[in-house]
Amino acid sequence: MLTPYKHEPFTDFSIESNRKRLESELEKIERKLGGTYDLLIDGEKVLTEEKITSINPGKKEEIVGYVAKANQEHAEKAVQAANQAFQTWRYTNAIDRANILIRAAAIIRRRKSEFTALLIKEAGKPWNEADADIAEGIDFMEYYARQMIELDKGKEINSRPGEYNRYLYTPSGVAVTIPPWNFAFAIMVGTTVAPLVTGNTVILKPASATPVIAAEFVDVLLEAGIPDGVINFLPGSGSEVGDYLVDHPKIALITFTGSREVGTRLYERAAAVNENQFHLKRTIVEMGGKDTVVVDNEADIDIAVDAIVTSAFGFSGQKCSAGSRAVVHEDVYDEVLERVVKRTKELTVGETTTPDVNMGPVIDQAAFNKIMNYIEIGKAEGKLMTGGEGDDSKGYFIQPTIFANLDVEARIMQEEIFGPVVAFAKAKDFDHALEIANNSEYGLTGAVITNNREKINKASREFHVGNLYFNRNCTGAIVGYHPFGGFKMSGTDSKAGGPDYLALHMLAKTISESY
Ligand code: NAD
Repeated sequence: MLTPYKHEPFTDFSIESNRKRLESELEKIERKLGGTYDLLIDGEKVLTEEKITSINPGKKEEIVGYVAKANQEHAEKAVQAANQAFQTWRYTNAIDRANILIRAAAIIRRRKSEFTALLIKEAGKPWNEADADIAEGIDFMEYYARQMIELDKGKEINSRPGEYNRYLYTPSGVAVTIPPWNFAFAIMVGTTVAPLVTGNTVILKPASATPVIAAEFVDVLLEAGIPDGVINFLPGSGSEVGDYLVDHPKIALITFTGSREVGTRLYERAAAVNENQFHLKRTIVEMGGKDTVVVDNEADIDIAVDAIVTSAFGFSGQKCSAGSRAVVHEDVYDEVLERVVKRTKELTVGETTTPDVNMGPVIDQAAFNKIMNYIEIGKAEGKLMTGGEGDDSKGYFIQPTIFANLDVEARIMQEEIFGPVVAFAKAKDFDHALEIANNSEYGLTGAVITNNREKINKASREFHVGNLYFNRNCTGAIVGYHPFGGFKMSGTDSKAGGPDYLALHMLAKTISESY
């Protein structure tokens, strides 16, 4: 019997022993950097001539690892293997599958500092963010294991005299998992283990910027007892391997998290019925955000300042939930802006080698260029209050940047920047603030800072986002506490880490027996 689910605690790095443990892991990881990682197809490790090179974005010259790069031939073999393995895996006991997740979670917990150190190197995360990312991965495994045991009982439906009715869930088939790099551990783990525990077999195509941590996790799944062919590891290019997998007639389920551009394209492709395909593909597509922190005139300004800074600059704004817009009531606009600017100027930026670095690099050169381009656009559209500068000589560093006095329709108020940039807009009153907040094609997260109960009620009804927070930041959803997923162009609202998530990976079956 499993204990009730509780989320994994975060590590307090002000405690010397915790700090020392991670320092020592970082040293150990440095000695291990530059290793080679294979594909995994049907339980066999496969090396390829061509490799993906994973680098430390905070220190470009440091190579984290070389990862084998799959082509379409490998993809075809992986689909065949996963399809074959599905024929037995689908009939395994849900408790046995759940136990694999519990074992994998235990292994990760034991090696938590090592995984945290690897994430610091591969994604450039600050210590606390890397620690939270690993904790979230553990949470997904613990939570979904318990959810699966419940789901396996099916749901109550009615029977009547002479007829016994059941409503059960059955696995879908071969799943393709396509995660992003920004929660290189948590989302990769969550979107891999959810299809696995529900009895599907998986082909994991990791994000090309962070394939090493995914390779290490696949080894943990093997150690936890996952059978051959049930998990297949297939790093490769989106256009070559990604499209091939999405189009493949034997794929039943695609779980994608990433940008609106790639997600909508994938959604459309997956809808096509190709030759020899005898089912419609299920898609879970979670995409970007343009998330807003609304500050009312009846608000605690300390909380507002903290919420804006945390939401905008945590992990350099590279979260789908990042608060990239601050919409502030005109009565308190100047005060909030001034205090946010002051706090932002105190943030430290650099390679995340110690726990006191607030902001690390952005992920790569393309991200650096894109964000710097948006900063130029912002200079034309609003008033630069602080930041605005970048340095990509050693790593991809961008100063936390604030623009003020934006028009609601400005590009930096509408487009996802995915970097450390926040735009301030002034609202006439609370209704106007909500109107501005809803004026976006995205609908992922939002926060409202107010002490007025009626305004809380109004925003609860009218602020159209999948994850709405009051009197706190709009980032940092916790598995089992804040099921996560967005409305509108933010995706299919699958609510990862929530009670409905696993059922999306299964087919509900009604069984009716007369007697
Ligand atoms: P991306 O869309 O560039 O890539 C996502 C994944 O898709 C990667 O693994 C990539 O290799 C793969 N891919 C690219 N082309 C493909 C193709 N043709 N076929 C199949 N796969 C392909 O996104 P990213 O830069 O990795 O991540 C950042 C984006 O993710 C942001 O927009 C962010 O808001 C979003 N995101 C959303 C959520 C959420 O829960 N809604 C969570 C995290 C990140």
